[in-house]
Amino acid sequence: MDDEMLSLAIVKDGQQVVAGSQSGTLYTWEWGNWKRASDRWIGHPCSVDTMCKLDEQTICTGGNDGLLRLISLDPQQFQGVIGDHGQDFPLERVRVTHDQNFIGSCGHDMQLRFWEIQSLFEQDSEDETEPFGMIFCLASKPSSVRRSIAVTPNKFDSADINLDGLLENNRCWAEAVLKEDPNFFRDMVEKQTPKILWIGCSDSRVPANQIVQLGPGEIFVHRNIANVVHHTDLNCLSVLQYAVEVLKVEHIIVCGHYLCGGVAAAHGHEQYGLIDHWLRNIKDVYRLNRQELENLSDGTKRLRRLVELNAIHSAQNVCHSTIVQNAWARGQKLTVHAWAYDLHIGYTFHIIRSTVQLHHLTS
Ligand code: ZN
Repeated sequence: MDDEMLSLAIVKDGQQVVAGSQSGTLYTWEWGNWKRASDRWIGHPCSVDTMCKLDEQTICTGGNDGLLRLISLDPQQFQGVIGDHGQDFPLERVRVTHDQNFIGSCGHDMQLRFWEIQSLFEQDSEDETEPFGMIFCLASKPSSVRRSIAVTPNKFDSADINLDGLLENNRCWAEAVLKEDPNFFRDMVEKQTPKILWIGCSDSRVPANQIVQLGPGEIFVHRNIANVVHHTDLNCLSVLQYAVEVLKVEHIIVCGHYLCGGVAAAHGHEQYGLIDHWLRNIKDVYRLNRQELENLSDGTKRLRRLVELNAIHSAQNVCHSTIVQNAWARGQKLTVHAWAYDLHIGYTFHIIRSTVQLHHLTS
């Protein structure tokens, strides 16, 4: 057999063995008749790395695309997607709990998730792509549990001079957090241990924590207009020094974003006053990359590229700082990334540029 077997379950009261393979094929053997598979079913678009039996006729599979699928065996039929860890996070193991009430699944997203079995059979799954509800989720890194903190109704009213609505928002948030994790604030008091320093734009549409789904205590943030890092900005350098030398962050992300007003202003020729001195940094980026930029006849593309180049330039300045150079000389684990976010109408942010890692620049 050319295919690599990765998972199996014994079903039909011990009379049949079903195995999942690297190619995504499900093979079945009748017990005792091992010379050849009695059936093979090509239904999974990716490898079937794990599976578990729900009853004698039904299995749950998990694979490289991060999806849990419900499969009936007689006849072999795909019943629906019952869970999702995300396509970048292959599943490693699915198992049924001892009381038969939940399927537990874990994968490369470092989370253990539980899915209620009863609801799988109650729900009328017309839409096979619609996942069933996850009941609860644990993370191998406890800090990531903070991702799921509830959002409470917004009572903010900018016309209220006392901002009572904003304070009420805060109170509701604190109550929701405590309900989800009674120890949350006690843990916060002890210390912060963020692994990431985020250097981003002040733009209100690019909030660091929300974009990367991290909670309080998980990301150290510095923001300014157009995410500029340069060697005379004591504010930014102080943040960088504290993050690297005291907090010992492992990643520094410089995050630009398309439709950045600061970059657009720097690209034009109008004067805006004091801020022109700040935007001079971006004009320098333009000057250093003039040929590449002016080869782009489409103004929108040129602006988008300038956003990317500005983020890369700032990341390079991070790398060239004595703070980061000294950290690397000490052997400290530290990676610098330049990101650009695509910002769509209203709600959706997409990362459309892959991480640029700038290790150990020597000049
Ligand atoms: Zn911006």
